[in-house]
Amino acid sequence: MSKSLRLSEKWFRRGLWMVAVVFAWFLIGLGGTLVGDLPQIEQTQTLEDFMDPIELKTVREQIRKTELNEREVSDALEQSRLKHSAAEADTDSEREKFMAWVATRKATALPDQDQELIARTERVDNLQALERVALAQLEMQQKLLLDAQQANRKAQLQLNDLERAAQGEYTSAIQSQELRVFGYRLALTLPLLLVAGWFYKTKRQSTYWPFVWGFIYFALFVFFVELVPYLPSYGGYIRYIVGIVITVLVGRQAIRALNRYLEQQRLAEAQPETKRREVLDYDTALARLLKGICPGCERTVDLKDSTIDFCPHCGIGLHDKCTACGSRKSTFSKYCHACGTGARLPDPPAQAAQP
Ligand SMILES: [Zn+2]
Ligand SMILES: [Zn+2]
Repeated sequence: MSKSLRLSEKWFRRGLWMVAVVFAWFLIGLGGTLVGDLPQIEQTQTLEDFMDPIELKTVREQIRKTELNEREVSDALEQSRLKHSAAEADTDSEREKFMAWVATRKATALPDQDQELIARTERVDNLQALERVALAQLEMQQKLLLDAQQANRKAQLQLNDLERAAQGEYTSAIQSQELRVFGYRLALTLPLLLVAGWFYKTKRQSTYWPFVWGFIYFALFVFFVELVPYLPSYGGYIRYIVGIVITVLVGRQAIRALNRYLEQQRLAEAQPETKRREVLDYDTALARLLKGICPGCERTVDLKDSTIDFCPHCGIGLHDKCTACGSRKSTFSKYCHACGTGARLPDPPAQAAQP
């Protein structure tokens, strides 16, 4: 990128690349904020929007009622269970007392106690009857709970049916909504990409190139990164296809640039040496010499070999003798390094042709 050997110019260029990156960063930030602040074009839909509202309300009410009923019945069952176990405990203790009493009576064998035996037997019988009543109540409550549970399950199933019926319509509505949202995004980002392509084609070497490159980075980022969360299932196709198209365009341009360069180089090497020196930029020539390549044909040349004065590949003169002091010097230097005499003095036609 940087052809210049001047230190400040190099750093200026680096600074300008920073400007491009920072410009892109701010553009991306601004774009993100703008999109965030845009009013929501689409309202979010739920599954319920696709169910019959009256039916849904009825079923919901049904579920609420059956749940309430179930809770009440379950509480009542708990009460009955407690009553039953209390009755059981009463019977058990009375029966134990009775058994103990009967045992003592056998031991004493007093006939006047027969009346009491009858009364005690009756008491145990009564308690047992109470226990049976409590058990019957418990069983009834259990049955009621089962009924309530079944009613609740039935209402739930009804709700499930409603949901299943709405599911298809809901899914397709959501899909088409996603598609619309993606369409809006694409309608925003694709023109940006096209503008960036036009900038790349026509403006990338203009004076304000850092802004041009900043915009190009911004457009690429927006299209290939920020669009991703909105891609529908097949959105990947669009991204990859656009990516392929861009790569093909850039690659085609690179191939054509290479061919143009090779053609230019071939034509240049066919020109006489003085003509070729005219078109060579001073900084470019020095940069190539530093890398150990011929400034004319860009092939490797051993510049340290003091016997090599001409490029063995293209024949361009690399070293000559100073006209004033006769020192061996680079033909691309503007002044003799030994005596400071201006170089190329015997070459006036080339200098005359320059302005
Ligand atoms: Zn050469
Ligand atoms: Zn000299």
